[in-house]
Amino acid sequence: MRTAPPVITFTPEPPPACGAKALAEVQNMVRACMQCGTCSGSCPNAFAMDLTPRQMWRMLLFGLAHEVLHSRTFWLCSACYSCTLRCPRGLPLTSAMAALKRLAAAEPDFASHRKALFYEEFMHNVEKRGRVRETELMLHYFAGMRDPLLPLKYTPLGLKLLRKGKLHLGGAPGAGRVSGLGPLFAKVRSMEAGT
Ligand code: SF4
Ligand code: SF4
Repeated sequence: MRTAPPVITFTPEPPPACGAKALAEVQNMVRACMQCGTCSGSCPNAFAMDLTPRQMWRMLLFGLAHEVLHSRTFWLCSACYSCTLRCPRGLPLTSAMAALKRLAAAEPDFASHRKALFYEEFMHNVEKRGRVRETELMLHYFAGMRDPLLPLKYTPLGLKLLRKGKLHLGGAPGAGRVSGLGPLFAKVRSMEAGT
């Protein structure tokens, strides 16, 4: 006797806070993706991503916006442009990653706020100092999170880094203000915004 095939049910996803139009703009950037995987194979940060870039484009085109916007993949994009240069379809993948960061930052949930704030503070620190000054970054992050207990959660990690000489309380050599990066960051922001 033949058994009945399993019933597959889909749970409706909550609509993204950014709205359907903004989402469609990102979907259009990757609509011609042929799933070759070159972007995933080229990405130096793919090992730490929860979705590979190739998977993420597919899910985006399937309309799985909630899962995509709550992944950490695009937050880990360091805009090296390897995928964009190698994509056989010539798709603007680095711009799509940047667009997803903007859309995810609009999500109202706590996890999205936390990731967006950390990313913003990290980039601000690099723009200001020319490299990451860990103590300053974390102080700004803690202040933005407004959770008085949060520093306690990071204390074990901080002590571990301090013991290994990876944390510089007084600022690492070369971590002073770098005045020349402002225009560069402004240019990248304008490119990412498509202006
Ligand atoms: S390299 Fe381009 S075509 Fe290939 S999977 Fe990535 S986005 Fe799609
Ligand atoms: S631009 Fe971003 S997603 Fe593309 S290869 Fe570089 S780090 Fe990976």
